[in-house]
Amino acid sequence: MTRLRVLAAAGLAVAATLSMTGQANAGGERLVPVRLLALNDFHGNLEPPTGSSGRMIDENGATVDAGGAVYAAAWMKQLTNENTLKVAQGDLIGASPLVSAAYHDEPSLEFLGDLGITASAVGNHEFDEGYSELKRLIKGGSHPVDGDTPAGPWQGTKFTYLGANVLLKDATELPDLPGYEILQDVAPGKLRKALRDYGIPALPPIAVREINGVKIGFIGAVTETTPTIVTASGIQELKFGSVVKSAEFGSRLLDLLNVKAQVLLVHEGDNVLTGKSPDACSTTNDPDGSSGNGTDIATQVDPEIDLILSGHSHQAYVCKVKDPAGNDRLYSQGGSFGRVISQADFKVDRKTGQVDRSTETVDNQIVTRTIAPDPATAQFVQLWKDRVSAVANRKVGDVTADLNRVAAPTGETTLGDVIADAQLEATVTGGGAQIALMNPGGVRNDLVYAPDGVVTYGESFAVQPFSNLMQVVTLTGDRLDALLEQQWTAAKTTVLQPSKSLSYTYSPGNAFGSKVSDIKINGVPVVGTDSYRVAANNFLVGGGDGFSVFLQGTDLWSGPIDLDAFNAYLGAHSPVSPPALDRITLG
Ligand SMILES: [Zn+2]
Repeated sequence: MTRLRVLAAAGLAVAATLSMTGQANAGGERLVPVRLLALNDFHGNLEPPTGSSGRMIDENGATVDAGGAVYAAAWMKQLTNENTLKVAQGDLIGASPLVSAAYHDEPSLEFLGDLGITASAVGNHEFDEGYSELKRLIKGGSHPVDGDTPAGPWQGTKFTYLGANVLLKDATELPDLPGYEILQDVAPGKLRKALRDYGIPALPPIAVREINGVKIGFIGAVTETTPTIVTASGIQELKFGSVVKSAEFGSRLLDLLNVKAQVLLVHEGDNVLTGKSPDACSTTNDPDGSSGNGTDIATQVDPEIDLILSGHSHQAYVCKVKDPAGNDRLYSQGGSFGRVISQADFKVDRKTGQVDRSTETVDNQIVTRTIAPDPATAQFVQLWKDRVSAVANRKVGDVTADLNRVAAPTGETTLGDVIADAQLEATVTGGGAQIALMNPGGVRNDLVYAPDGVVTYGESFAVQPFSNLMQVVTLTGDRLDALLEQQWTAAKTTVLQPSKSLSYTYSPGNAFGSKVSDIKINGVPVVGTDSYRVAANNFLVGGGDGFSVFLQGTDLWSGPIDLDAFNAYLGAHSPVSPPALDRITLG
């Protein structure tokens, strides 16, 4: 088979070529080139993402359409040379479009495996359906409730998911997952000591790959905020430790394996100024004036780590930072939804195994749609679109105009209000709910009127893709007040979308903790010592988004899935019109 033919074939065949080339190069130049191609925050975007999610600012400042598996695969092939390893930085799945989510993201994991991804950090969204579901996706097997997809039993993920800072709370042994084999090469006594000092990682902490005759070590870690942004019940047995400490642990393991070229794949990043080139470094500071979480990590992690590829904030940037030893290293991220491939190039000293940092470059390549789509991927995506179409095209209701996430000065949105109304309606009977509150981050898409006001299951799914459970808890009036005050903190503003039964005044000029007043339920003032039934999804009721007051709720009742509640409401009240944004009044 000629190399051209091999390169034109599937990802597996490309991998075979790479190892052959590696042998052919052995004994050549002392400094050997390595290329990493990285993706982050793919979020199951097999189809080209639409709206602003499908656009990027390119190197020339132009806004271009970007993303889509067929183009990502074509660009990956174009950028792949004989020294290439492909990696990722998490949130590859979760909060995905229906074509992937309807099948628990198995189609996306299959695509990414076929693309040749060899290792990825886990993101927070990898835990959306809990640790046991993540383990099933890694190992293979049927979904405990939904069984198999039309493709048959899931075979497991072809790449290694890494999570050095994800620890098991009460365990003395490593879990039964592929990827831990690498640790068998560490001297047993030293491994035992490392685990005793650090704890038991719930996922493989490191992976080592050989390319062009040199070894590259990867450490994976996820945002420390994961417990506050995923459903608590799914991660009960886990704790999420310091990224910096986990990187040190990973680096120590790699040292024990004599792997000197070390790359951190981290699902944490920074925000940047808008309108900049994807290759610019315009990371912005946290509200408290300190540098962003990603920059903190990139500057603080072990000086032996040569490169930091990041994720989570969906931004594109390439930054040069100083490591704790004062040496330069690069820190980058590649947007989201498969719109950017980060191409990192560097040379490794064959003799010492060290990366020559002066040779390090990162170039964020935009996945434009002007390239010819990859034919095999096009077939694959079409197959899954066909499979999901009967579900996706079913009509669930009508709207008279757009319901969207455009916020009033109070933070209220028409779509948020309608969702809260739907959640209240679904939880009155059985749960006894009097009000409902919806987290704005869980409203993932707008409902657009065009062309005819019909809302399909596919469209409502895109708005509420998480399959959260509706729950109701009892809070006193005082606790409800405290909960509403948690919407405004020094760190962030998160306005919970209120059902029409709730009204209150928000005074932006008042101090934190005293911004809410005049709370009424169905027009009746709330009494501090009285009890009220409050509906929200299980993410919020579990204290998500920092709403810790929800954890003080009592008499927990669980009801339907949020999407079912939304669809039932759209069906029963069609056509639904945008409500007036008057539930929260500015004071
Ligand atoms: Zn994330």
